[in-house]
Formats: sequence, structure tokens, C-alpha cells
Amino acid sequence: MATAYSTSREVTARPLYASRLPFDERRVGAAAVYCSDGRFGEQMDEFLHEQLRLPRYDRLAVPGGAACLAGHALFHYERAALERQLRFLVDAHGLRRVVLIAHQDCAFYRDLWLGGRTLADQQAIDLENAADQIRSWCPGIAVEAYYARKVDGQIALDLWRCRSGLNVT
Ligand SMILES: [Zn+2]
Repeated sequence: MATAYSTSREVTARPLYASRLPFDERRVGAAAVYCSDGRFGEQMDEFLHEQLRLPRYDRLAVPGGAACLAGHALFHYERAALERQLRFLVDAHGLRRVVLIAHQDCAFYRDLWLGGRTLADQQAIDLENAADQIRSWCPGIAVEAYYARKVDGQIALDLWRCRSGLNVT
């Protein structure tokens, strides 16, 4: 009896969907680590393509982005997983550049005690620590950090100067 779905071995003349975008097999040697929050995803993608000129960058979208690399005991398991994933991409895809993006009001922090800091200040510290951690694992790799926030109904992204806070120009 025939089934209503296709098996992985079945090649049909008409796929369910064919993307309008062509496939380009060239890698760009860069990855972005950002939060899974889908409300920011399209804007981050646009930023990486248009501003940073990084087409086809590798994506590591996980809750909180690189926050779990900052050394919080609460995120021990997430840190181990993200470290493995990053090391894999550096090795297998030849990464030379990693872009970290944090975003305003990130829910990943809801269970973390901030010690009196604002969430934005904590995220700044965490991005700096995460960048240092990645550099220690992968000497020679370039790591940069950005912050996405809501401004007049849109998403604005700025370079994050971690020790001195948000650099708004
Ligand atoms: Zn988030």
C-alpha cells in the first residue's frame, strides 16, 4: 500500500518547494553566535549580510547566544555544548571570524541573578568574557560583539565595546 509521504530515497520531478536562491558552495570562514529569539533573527541576518558583508555565514542560534560562554555556573551544560559546536565549525569549516550578537530583553537571563547590574550591563560583561573564551580556544580567530535593540519599532545594531558599555554613535 502506497504511503502519502515521500521517502528520503525518492526523487520526484517536482519538489514540494524549490528556493529561489541559488546554491553557492563557497564558505566565507565566519560564524555568527546569536540568540534563537525569532523576533530578532531576520534583522540579524540582514545586518550580517548588508553591514558586515558576510553572505552564507554559519549560524549558531541558541537561547542567549554566547551568554553561556561567560562562565555562569547556571549555564554549565549549554557552555559545553556550544564549545563543542564552535570548535567543530572552526575545524571543519575553517572559521577565521566569529560574530557575537546579544539582544535587548533577552529571556535567557530570566533565572540569572544579576547582582544589581542592569541586564544590558550584564550582557556587555558576558560578551567580553565569551569573546575572551573563544580566543583562548582558537588562537588567531577574530571575535567581535554587537548589541541589537529596539528603536522606534525597528531593530538597531551597534558595535559593543564591552568594558565601557554600548557604543552608540
Ligand atoms: Zn534572547
